[in-house]
Amino acid sequence: MKKIHVVAHTHWDREWYFSDNEAFIQFSYHMDEVIYALEKNELDYYYLDGQLSIIDDYLKVYPEKETKIKELVEANKLFIGPWYTQMDEFVVAGESVVKNLQIGIDMSKRLGGHTSLGYLPDSFGQGKDMPKIYNGFGITDAVFWRGMPNEVTKSREFYWAAEDGSKVLTINIRNGYYAGVALVEGELYQKKAMLELVSEDSATEIVTLPVGGDQRAVDRDLKAIIQDVNEQFGTEYKIEESNYPHIFNLLREKTNELPTVQGEFMSGSVSKIHRSIYSSRYDLKKLNDTIENRLIFQLEPLMLMADDLGIPFKRELLDYIWKLLLKNHAHDSIGGCNTDKTNEMILARYKEADQLSYSTIDYLVRKISESIQGIKENDLILFNTLPYTRTDPYVVEVSTKHEKIRLFDEMNNEVDSQILSTEKVYAGEVRRSESDYDEAKYYYIHKVSFRKETRPLGYTIVTVKEQTGSNSSVIALNVEDKHIENELYKISFSKGKFSILVKNQGKTYENCLYMEESGDEGDTYDYSPAYHDKVYQLNFDTTDITVQTGAFLSTMTLNGQWSLPKDLHARKVGEINVQIDYTFTLSLSKDSKRIDMNVKLNNQAMDHRMRLVVKTPVKTQVSYADTLFGIVERNNQDPHIHDWKKLGWKEEPTEIYPMIHYSTIHDDTSSWSIMSKGIKEYQVIDSSLYITLFRGVGFLGRPELLRRPGDASGNQYRYIPTPDSQLLGNLEMALSLIITDDFDPAMIQKEYQIYSVTSPYYQVQTLNRFTNPIQYFQSNKVDQLNSLKEFIDLNNSKLVFSVLELSRDGQWVNIRLYNPSLTEAVTNEKITLATESTVRFVDLNGDLLESLGKLKEVSLGSFKPGEIKTVSIQR
Ligand SMILES: [Zn+2]
Repeated sequence: MKKIHVVAHTHWDREWYFSDNEAFIQFSYHMDEVIYALEKNELDYYYLDGQLSIIDDYLKVYPEKETKIKELVEANKLFIGPWYTQMDEFVVAGESVVKNLQIGIDMSKRLGGHTSLGYLPDSFGQGKDMPKIYNGFGITDAVFWRGMPNEVTKSREFYWAAEDGSKVLTINIRNGYYAGVALVEGELYQKKAMLELVSEDSATEIVTLPVGGDQRAVDRDLKAIIQDVNEQFGTEYKIEESNYPHIFNLLREKTNELPTVQGEFMSGSVSKIHRSIYSSRYDLKKLNDTIENRLIFQLEPLMLMADDLGIPFKRELLDYIWKLLLKNHAHDSIGGCNTDKTNEMILARYKEADQLSYSTIDYLVRKISESIQGIKENDLILFNTLPYTRTDPYVVEVSTKHEKIRLFDEMNNEVDSQILSTEKVYAGEVRRSESDYDEAKYYYIHKVSFRKETRPLGYTIVTVKEQTGSNSSVIALNVEDKHIENELYKISFSKGKFSILVKNQGKTYENCLYMEESGDEGDTYDYSPAYHDKVYQLNFDTTDITVQTGAFLSTMTLNGQWSLPKDLHARKVGEINVQIDYTFTLSLSKDSKRIDMNVKLNNQAMDHRMRLVVKTPVKTQVSYADTLFGIVERNNQDPHIHDWKKLGWKEEPTEIYPMIHYSTIHDDTSSWSIMSKGIKEYQVIDSSLYITLFRGVGFLGRPELLRRPGDASGNQYRYIPTPDSQLLGNLEMALSLIITDDFDPAMIQKEYQIYSVTSPYYQVQTLNRFTNPIQYFQSNKVDQLNSLKEFIDLNNSKLVFSVLELSRDGQWVNIRLYNPSLTEAVTNEKITLATESTVRFVDLNGDLLESLGKLKEVSLGSFKPGEIKTVSIQR
């Protein structure tokens, strides 16, 4: 006899086609009902969607309910956590997922403890590294719905493993987290049909039936319904109220009967997974990427450095900023599949997190800089927040009284520099007429590039002085020969087309960069080709080209216009009736492996998609992209691309894939990687990498898309216009291309960090009081700045540096590293500490795994493919 375990729950979308405020009102009353139902034994158990953010919001307004919630959690009636929000697994950083669990688990502690369950019932597909992350938090059970194809396993219960050996016992709630609503609302025959359906393909007699749904009110008569159904179908099914920890305990006794599966699950065969949501609302995803990188790679390391120097670490501030960001990581929020009103709230949260994070950095670099003993006017202090020595050229702005400048190091040796621009600015009180301005009160802002080695988690000082002779690095305006070059590449431009010479290969790749523009008759969930589509290949056909070359940075800037159809109607009839102005800049830094690209455009067309195309000679069937903690290999052609409709799939398995920071294709002769600050989507077609710059659509959901038949996603009963999602107006994208001989995932990720993480800096000066919004106000110096501790240098590591964080008790510095390879182990990794310290390995939550003792040379041992380790050093 099948035993049906009913799990009463709600799935709570924080925001979606309603705002978080609108949902909060409902939750305020909902939570009261949950408490009442559990206290009065209307329900035995209730699962609060595995996320703490909704309780966080609730307790801010109703702090008196904390004790009651704690009582119910401790009594094993109310189940909460472990997440802070119901996040997405494909476009946010791995460390954001870790922070989401750290903060959720930390908050659960004062509320009676978290449910140790990797519960993501609605995320749009499952990332391959989730078993590693769960195991890293001591979580060995998982529940999800979307993405698992029947072909991988028919069994609803299985072990989900990762390449490093991590695994979680998993229940795939294949008919959705709302399947059990039929038990409450259905006619008798519907209840029967539903019980039959969810019992199909269960590996054991233990069947899980979630009874709940989106923002669903408490089913107060559940006990009576269960009793009634037991009386009706008692010979075939035994139904009882249950909870996930109990179900997993029973299931674990049957483990030998369960299959093991591995990898990511993003198949639309059973449910929609929206494989192209990665490019919806590019503007918001870019903001997320910027803030995420700043928090991980600049803010926390800088706060840690400041703490060493004597400026206390502000954990509450850091958590506060993270919570703002994590609220935006909920699957709908980060997806962009929201109303304009909701997206405005999301944008407001990004703006708040942005301002708080850059202001903390501005404040700390100033405080530290002004407190350094012997610091003087015009010293420029440069901070390295990464754990390896930086030698890449800096680009900084300095303000001086002088029109020309020179830079000197601590030993008073001149530092070679390249002036990129100089601007004359007035420092006196503003007047109505510029003729009243005092000539003595002008100063200059210089944008300057130079190289100065800066040690890991340290700072270095250069001094800005007046230059008396002629400029040592003159800007060369080269109009005859349109090319730029550095030690690795030479990029030439002729008649609208680029060619790239890769110097060490001795090969030139012709016409390898252009744009593709096409219609998008999809919605905020999915790209879909227009019913009457026309695809345009756009070259950079312009004569407005500026070339700037120098010792540290060379750039080529193209200004032009693309002429396109304005909307779907114009596209259908072939009318060209709109202009998109663009500026495309290519940059090469000294010795850099990267070709940096910047696209600025003024989007004036609707319902379309624009992609950068990188044409390569690579012959391959697969692509690679980075994932939360590793890389993934994906097919360039889906085996079901031609028969998906016949098979009844929910959407076309178009080979549009997510990337977190980069995607790569390679063969025996060359490897091509594209990385981006904020673009999250790519596709490989015939040896070319297509990177989605953005797409604009006008509806939250549309029915009957060419790529997605059937009902509209989101809300199937009405069209919800989203004019903001057309992304009209100015947009900017930053990408970088690396062409190498081989694919080295650790090297690419390190290059990405150097690319995306700038060095915070501060110039001691009083001319320009507007270098940042709070510069105008004076700040006290630290009485006695401690000396900065020497930090390990990960320069020669074959691993990816993931995070540097202060443990929650403030006693340890945790450094997380991982091996991104899918097949190769990394052996004999060692780090050398500056002084002998107590060292240990901890898990992702910072909890002790293994004490290593007091050491100076720390052997990290071998890293299996995909393995993550966190080394913890006592302060
Ligand atoms: Zn949801």
